[in-house]
Amino acid sequence: MTELPLFDDTDVDRVLCVVAHPDDMEYGGSAAVAKWTDEGKKVSYLLLTRGEAGIRDMSPEQVAPLRAAEQRRACTIVGVDDLEILDFPDGLVEPSHELRRAIARKIREFRPDTVMVTNFELKARWGLNHVDHRNAGIATADAIRDADNPWIFTELNDEGLEAWKAARLLINGAEPTHAVALTAEHVDRGVRSLEAHQIYLQALSDHPAPKDMIPSITTSGGELAGVDYALPVGVIDM
Ligand SMILES: [Zn+2]
Repeated sequence: MTELPLFDDTDVDRVLCVVAHPDDMEYGGSAAVAKWTDEGKKVSYLLLTRGEAGIRDMSPEQVAPLRAAEQRRACTIVGVDDLEILDFPDGLVEPSHELRRAIARKIREFRPDTVMVTNFELKARWGLNHVDHRNAGIATADAIRDADNPWIFTELNDEGLEAWKAARLLINGAEPTHAVALTAEHVDRGVRSLEAHQIYLQALSDHPAPKDMIPSITTSGGELAGVDYALPVGVIDM
């Protein structure tokens, strides 16, 4: 008996993925993105920080461009060419009005029907969730509402950006309600997109190998949904 219903993405045309850091999309999310871009859906990534504080032995000035280049490679592998990286401070992301405005601006510009984030609970699969992940997710959830309210961030109206309502929020890594069915090829591209963060991953001595990690996430997701591979996601209709 299957437990998780498959996520019906036939009506999904435009997906905006909002995460805190370079690499955050690559823990299963990018495998689903590979599927969607294959199907002709338009996918855009908005990164809130440059991940400049992510490598202990390298300076932020060295790390920021390096991680941006690794993210661009990761995007190419899953068919994404629309990548925007903001410069909120890595490690110090707050769910501020400024951050919500920046995300709402992107939502009004790109006009997604679907917004994807990573888990913004206190706890994550691997332990205590990162503060930037918590604040990025909560700010994005709030910014979806802001983007649809013409009386919030009225300066965006002045920029010619009209209110826009995204239909749903997908949360990767949270308590799942659905599963995005994937093929082995999507999973493989998910693996390679994580491997693209080569120097970053080398600096994390205890990081599991992408070729083990992504198949593990998507195989257990598949078992819950009665298919070979799937990404479990929490879906919230807005
Ligand atoms: Zn992160």
